[in-house]
Amino acid sequence: MANYDNNNIFAKILRDEIPSKKVFESDFALAFYDINPQAPVHVLVIPKGPYVSMDDFAANASGEEIAGLWRAVGETAVKVGLVESGYRIIANHSADAHQEIFHLHIHILGGHPLGPMLEGGDVPPDGSWQRTA
Ligand code: AMP
Repeated sequence: MANYDNNNIFAKILRDEIPSKKVFESDFALAFYDINPQAPVHVLVIPKGPYVSMDDFAANASGEEIAGLWRAVGETAVKVGLVESGYRIIANHSADAHQEIFHLHIHILGGHPLGPMLEGGDVPPDGSWQRTA
């Protein structure tokens, strides 16, 4: 069971207790610029409900909240002008993905060619794992 901390940074942004550079807002989601951008355009889209990560959200959010978040991702990408040039979305869940803030957030990245999907390509140099499917 997910353990949501009401004092995480994004909960504070939702309550306007710390500032953010907002891009888009709806009943279900808020989008704002990442404070440490990894691409010329780097925006985060978060649900307004208290969900730790995609795992919690997929299991426990209502259909309305799920639709609301994904519509907000699409609308935010339109608003920041990335539809024609292209963009990548990322949502990190837990340790292997290096999730740092435990309120679900969808990264939208774009503004220049983003390169391969993951650093280092698809097979690690030490061959420590093999594709199973
Ligand atoms: P993740 O590793 O997926 O949990 O990503 C967390 C992201 O939140 C990072 O890209 C940070 O740069 C970003 N971040 C942390 N604090 C803030 C903040 N106050 N406003 C906007 N973005 C933030």
